[in-house]
Amino acid sequence: MDYGMIGKIEKARRYTEEPERITFKSFKAHFRGSNSDYDITLGANGWSCTCPGFHSQNICPHVMAMEKLFRPMLKREPLPYAHGQNVVSDVEKANRYTNEKDRIQFETFEAVFHGENSEHHFGFTDHKWQCDCDFFKSRDVCSHTMAMERLLTGMLDIATPQVAVPEVNQP
Ligand SMILES: [Zn+2]
Ligand SMILES: [Zn+2]
Repeated sequence: MDYGMIGKIEKARRYTEEPERITFKSFKAHFRGSNSDYDITLGANGWSCTCPGFHSQNICPHVMAMEKLFRPMLKREPLPYAHGQNVVSDVEKANRYTNEKDRIQFETFEAVFHGENSEHHFGFTDHKWQCDCDFFKSRDVCSHTMAMERLLTGMLDIATPQVAVPEVNQP
């Protein structure tokens, strides 16, 4: 029996219920919109999206959907509505997108995991995980990456899926 791993799986299961432990520093994701595909990024300068709406108004339903889906992991204020934006239609679209997560594919991201004892920097790039914690250094997997893999189910193109974290039982 791999008790070290069993402990990490148990921890990861708990962490999936505490998404506020995670803070995105940056990411690049592919967003399949209603009519075409866009690239959406979050970085030091804030949000960006390649769609025409964002280009003219600095806000769009794609960013609004990401803000809604990942609110506990962003730790930033939502973008303000723009003058002239069709707010009703954009909110309706964003709400629909949050129920259609298969539209989103993360290409790369960097994030901080606020663990029980310390902070860890972890991320995903080239279809692979990284984490700076000791367990990951020896095993290429840890409770942080397992928890995130579960939280981003269907939104990551992973070379080698990690140990499955058991489903959270619904009451
Ligand atoms: Zn957009
Ligand atoms: Zn880790």
